[in-house]
Amino acid sequence: MSTNSEQLKELHAGSHYKHATVGNPNEVTTKHFTRDVMGITGAEISFGVLEPGQAVPFFHKHQQNEEIYIILTGKGSFQVDNDLFPVEAGSLVRVSAEGIRSLKCISEDSLRYICIQVKADSLEQCTMTDGVIVEHKALW
Ligand code: ZN
Repeated sequence: MSTNSEQLKELHAGSHYKHATVGNPNEVTTKHFTRDVMGITGAEISFGVLEPGQAVPFFHKHQQNEEIYIILTGKGSFQVDNDLFPVEAGSLVRVSAEGIRSLKCISEDSLRYICIQVKADSLEQCTMTDGVIVEHKALW
């Protein structure tokens, strides 16, 4: 699995945002870590791809971060500790930091996924409790 980021491109940025693209997420061909390009401060979001029969070449766990995997294309076998279960496009899997995990593509087409890594127990509020509705002029 390479970590080439040629497909990940920053498009533009303002004082409070960055906009980038990996192109069609269903055509991603290599691993992309987005945190550095995006300037993300509270998460690492990566795009990953496994070709038919290919598995992540190691099992791993984390010291303090949980991970959420979102399967975009293909089918896979997901292993956490000693549990093995099938995943496919649309599947979501959250793995606690201490969960020992790996993933294998078992479909005839590529398995593509997004992995969101965040510090466990770090979210104190979200959406309706963190969001603040403000008056602002729409530009569209
Ligand atoms: Zn990980």
